[in-house]
Amino acid sequence: MDPHRLDATAAACKDLINSRFPDDEDRGAAAMLLADGTILTGTAPDAVNPSVEACHEIEPYAGAFRLGRPVVASICLHRQPGGRTIVLSPCGVCRERLAVHGPHVLVAVAGRPDPTEIVWKPLKDVLPDYWMTAFPDEVDPGWLD
Ligand SMILES: [Zn+2]
Repeated sequence: MDPHRLDATAAACKDLINSRFPDDEDRGAAAMLLADGTILTGTAPDAVNPSVEACHEIEPYAGAFRLGRPVVASICLHRQPGGRTIVLSPCGVCRERLAVHGPHVLVAVAGRPDPTEIVWKPLKDVLPDYWMTAFPDEVDPGWLD
């Protein structure tokens, strides 16, 4: 993976946070890099009832499906008041969603001890026991390595 494409994906995510939410408040967004180089971004709409809110990843994830293109990398960032921006690794549900794009999708996780550091890992590393491995004839063979 070209690191410049990953950097551009992270930059697009930060750009969305800063352009959509110019106030100095807690806000986040996500960005996904598609196989053809397209970068899609998105953010979760506010909801009165938090139980109906969605992950920031939903918009770029659905956009990739709309375009019929594979996702090759995904990042979610959260800007805190003062501008500190931390990396949020994909939640369990988003890991499940991304799994349809295969075990080699790169996902951004927070560095340790510095959560502002972007560390890219293959999805397989953050979803080591994907349930579909119980169906070896139906799953991408990359999950079985
Ligand atoms: Zn999620």
